[in-house]
Amino acid sequence: MTFTLTNYRDETRYSIGVDLGGTDIKAGLVSSAGDISCRVVLPTDVETGGPKLVAARIAEAVRQVLLKAETASIDLTSKESDSRGEITSPLQTDDNVHEIGVGLGAPGLIIAETGVVHFSPNFPGWSDIPLVAYVNAELAKLHPTKYAAQTDIHKKYKPILRGMDNDVNAMTLGELHHGAGVGYRSLVALTLGTGVGGGVVIDGEVYHGSQNTAGELGHTIVEPNGRICGCGNRGCLEAYAGAKNIVQRIEEKIENGRRSSLADAIEDGIALTPRVIAQAAEAGDALAIEIFAETGAYIGIALTSIAHILNPQIAIIGGGIAEAGEKLLFEPIRKELSKRAMDIPARMKIVKAHLGNDAGIVGAAMLAMAGEES
Ligand SMILES: [Zn+2]
Repeated sequence: MTFTLTNYRDETRYSIGVDLGGTDIKAGLVSSAGDISCRVVLPTDVETGGPKLVAARIAEAVRQVLLKAETASIDLTSKESDSRGEITSPLQTDDNVHEIGVGLGAPGLIIAETGVVHFSPNFPGWSDIPLVAYVNAELAKLHPTKYAAQTDIHKKYKPILRGMDNDVNAMTLGELHHGAGVGYRSLVALTLGTGVGGGVVIDGEVYHGSQNTAGELGHTIVEPNGRICGCGNRGCLEAYAGAKNIVQRIEEKIENGRRSSLADAIEDGIALTPRVIAQAAEAGDALAIEIFAETGAYIGIALTSIAHILNPQIAIIGGGIAEAGEKLLFEPIRKELSKRAMDIPARMKIVKAHLGNDAGIVGAAMLAMAGEES
């Protein structure tokens, strides 16, 4: 039979979402309603070992999630009533073993189809690592003896990694199914953090492109001869809206003689962050307000191109910098879009992401559910 998300709308189902970062592995049990429980955070420890160690860490995080679920008496067996009212359990593989889907979001260029990390800036030296296979080898070691021995339970779960994707694509999927994107079929997502990540959903599916590099919205050019970006190009959105770049831009203006309450902060040795700049803006600092207005305008320029190319219904903007909020950031973005875009593409809604830091885990879990459909 075919499994789809809609088959289970009335049944709570669970999968495990894992958000792999350079520093931490965050994992949690995610219900089909998008709620997270049984959270686990483990250090990635990428310095001390290679990809197989990271795979073992991911498996350990999954094991700890399952233990927490057991302690909390959460029944992970999925049941579905068939048309005759009989209860069947489609994920049951033998008498007493229940498969639990796991999904993984990982930073870098991910080949989702083959489960390979082609390259990741967070994991130096990794090149074409078959991470899904490595993780499944580690998960197979958990089942059944190790897990069963430690919990003394009559039910045994067999966790299987069903899908991996780029972390921003996973977040986009999380927002699509359980966040700001609910009810939409075509959307783009921008995450404004250290870098500027992007995800594209077309007709309800994350779009990967021919070589898995689609959605690099942070490298949309907004100034042809502009600031140098981490990618080596000039004038990318990331070179204006990434955290470091926002700070650099205001520091340069202060060095060039612009007045700001933040000049004193710099003299006192306080490290500027987008948050500190936003606080100054909220307190009325004209230069801080200007920096956010400029940042919003650059995002609006990028979104104008994106709206013309893809005509999405909605653009979802998340990440720490989005916390600057409506007045400082979102209004300038909308103003720029309406100034520049043609009538119909300009109707794209621009909203803040709903799931915050949880989008990674929720989206990763969606990858597990999507993996059950085939
Ligand atoms: Zn770039």
